[in-house]
Amino acid sequence: MTQCCTQNDKPSGSRFDRMIQNCLDYAFAAKAQGRPLVGILCEYTPREMILAAGGVPVCLCGGSLEKIAPAEQHLPAGVCPLIKSTYGYHLTDSNPFLAMADLIVAETTCDGKKKMYELMAQRRPMHILELPQKANDANARTHWLAEMRKLKAELEDRLSCRITDEALRIAIKRMNRERTLRRQLAEQMKQAAPPWSGRRLLDYKSIISGIDEDLQEYERLLAMAAERRDATQAGVRMLLTGVPTVHGAERVVDLIEQAGGLVVCMENCTGIKPLLEDISEQAADPVEAIAEKYFHLSCSVMTPNTRRLEWLARLAEEYRADGVIELVWQGCLTYDVESYHVRHLAERHGLGYLKIVTDYSPSDSARLSVRIEALIETLRERKR
Ligand code: SF4
Ligand code: SF4
Repeated sequence: MTQCCTQNDKPSGSRFDRMIQNCLDYAFAAKAQGRPLVGILCEYTPREMILAAGGVPVCLCGGSLEKIAPAEQHLPAGVCPLIKSTYGYHLTDSNPFLAMADLIVAETTCDGKKKMYELMAQRRPMHILELPQKANDANARTHWLAEMRKLKAELEDRLSCRITDEALRIAIKRMNRERTLRRQLAEQMKQAAPPWSGRRLLDYKSIISGIDEDLQEYERLLAMAAERRDATQAGVRMLLTGVPTVHGAERVVDLIEQAGGLVVCMENCTGIKPLLEDISEQAADPVEAIAEKYFHLSCSVMTPNTRRLEWLARLAEEYRADGVIELVWQGCLTYDVESYHVRHLAERHGLGYLKIVTDYSPSDSARLSVRIEALIETLRERKR
């Protein structure tokens, strides 16, 4: 995995520099204590429910280019790299978290994932959440709530536990705390000269949620940000939107910042999107509160997905973005089509716009850099 520091964004000596090893240590220790590991593959899956079941929620999304070729033995080449990489890990038995998982909770989001899960479920224990996709439909909400109750029953059955309202409230509180801290870290990028690069910020999270030491590290980083006046970042302010850039697949963020951009906001599932809303800690029915939060996630599989556009306009203003870069993984039809709306939104708000369609291979890096540099130069000129 390549790392990039813009300006004087020195290595922070953060605990997150060895994130995978930390998570492995945590997972082995949890398993030794009899805690089950539950794999998740999407931000629609409520980690709160898994924590309340005594489980450890771990993200299994693949960011490795190497796993794509093996996956293509079963999957068409045209499927998005995130799906292929995740499946490649499964096929080659090379993801220790997947090997340790007692259950995988998957979801009906895009077609590629849905059909890949069928193949993965041939030899992995799996529960599928059925995500209704009409964002503004009352029946869809009711159905989603029923799916949340079904997930609760499934976890209780498969993990031989009982999920109480009290356990759910404790888990909600923990995840709200994690979201708040990560949101506060992201909000440091609103400053005229932020304390770190977008690439650095992207590393400040774990694939396992709810680890005490991670929460403490977020607090330490926030305190450090207040003091880090010698390490401020500069560059043309870019808002990155579109598909997630999971661990190992951060190449485009590197390219933007190497070209003189500063990614001040990442409106995607590895950025601020899942952090925008918390869950009510006082709700009479915690399952209903969980369902409400997750149904608001503005993924392109939703129709219409106006909530994403509303957030994009708001984030561009709050983070004072000069331009929007939209990343679409090859084969991701929903984000690809939705880019029509995003381009028009950027134009309406007087923002520069660039759409990048790529995969995990670095073969087009030079070509992408030229396009990114051209956008950044145009925006620089405009600012002058
Ligand atoms: S982009 Fe959509 S499908 Fe992908 S993780 Fe986010 S919510 Fe899930
Ligand atoms: S990037 Fe697009 S195609 Fe790939 S898993 Fe996410 S929604 Fe599906």
